[in-house]
Amino acid sequence: MISHTSPQWQSCEWQSLLQSAIRDSDTLLKVLGLSSAKDQIRPLANPDFPILAPLPFVARMKQGDPNDPLLLQVLATDQEIEMAAEGLLDPLNEAAFTPVPGLIHKYHGRVLLLTSGRCAINCRYCFRRHSDYSATIMTPTRKADVIQYLRTHPEVSEVILSGGDPLLRSDQSLAELIAELETIPHIRRLRIHSRLPIVIPQRVTQELCRVFDQSHLKICVVIHANHPQELDTHVAHAMHLLRSVGVTLLNQSVALQGVNADVDTLEALSYRLYDIGVLPYYLHTFDPVAGALHFDAGTESVVTIYQALQGRLPGYLLPKLVTEYPGQQAKTLVPITPLN
Ligand SMILES: *Cc1c(COP(=O)(O)O)cnc(C)c1O
Ligand code: SF4
Repeated sequence: MISHTSPQWQSCEWQSLLQSAIRDSDTLLKVLGLSSAKDQIRPLANPDFPILAPLPFVARMKQGDPNDPLLLQVLATDQEIEMAAEGLLDPLNEAAFTPVPGLIHKYHGRVLLLTSGRCAINCRYCFRRHSDYSATIMTPTRKADVIQYLRTHPEVSEVILSGGDPLLRSDQSLAELIAELETIPHIRRLRIHSRLPIVIPQRVTQELCRVFDQSHLKICVVIHANHPQELDTHVAHAMHLLRSVGVTLLNQSVALQGVNADVDTLEALSYRLYDIGVLPYYLHTFDPVAGALHFDAGTESVVTIYQALQGRLPGYLLPKLVTEYPGQQAKTLVPITPLN
């Protein structure tokens, strides 16, 4: 049994690290020395979207800080029910772009495969928090239909593994999927959208790197970090392993009130990403999902922050500020007016 008090977790296998993740607010607050601040924090006892926070991620939180930016991303509080009625349940209307279950084909030339119904962490602001994955996920029985769809759509040159978190699948199951994609000549690029290398960097196993190394597909891993404090030396090591087998590394973040919606944090995030070999890709405006509206910084304020960020960062470290509107052909760049 691994516990948060044992120093051994750093050398554990990722599966055990996932199993020993914290799944209730009492334990989480206790580990952080915040039990006595409960009245102020008002944790939600039985949230409909459960708490899930693996120890490698929790270890990067500051002790005794109820406003720690990593804690706020995983702790369910009363704020979730106060405004729950106002948000949307499927803000992106993805159900309308699913030609076969498990596959979303919305944008030109690339498709999303929903390859896992679970995540390694439950982010309170997640726009998929109300998804009924059982209906949308690419199960083993649906895989044949997905592959058939790809074979008959030569305009698709990129497959994006999404979820849930696609890296929750075993190395073997990923290797099998990649092998099948490789039999389709027009598929050239494989992209993997995953928060696991951040949450449990031990997920980047030697075997996974070997599978990537041996594939003829151009592989890109898009990680998801919102705050520089998420990027510790273990994450840096995982990024190093991926880069050493030629994987392109990008990051996407969500602008979140109380977490990263300020210029200094976003600037530090970009520099830290670059230090560990990752380029900033997207900064998403928050999607108004039910139960998470307290993360909404407001588009106007995010634009102001972004303008200031643009004044500080070299162009290659500036993420694209985007919003997703249902029915659009791509993510929409948020218009930025020049500062006078
Ligand atoms: C975001 C997204 C993609 C990928 O878009 P890029 O701009 O290429 O990163 C593809 N399909 C869907 C449905 C998406 O939401
Ligand atoms: S890892 Fe991504 S998909 Fe999973 S809960 Fe977090 S934001 Fe949502």
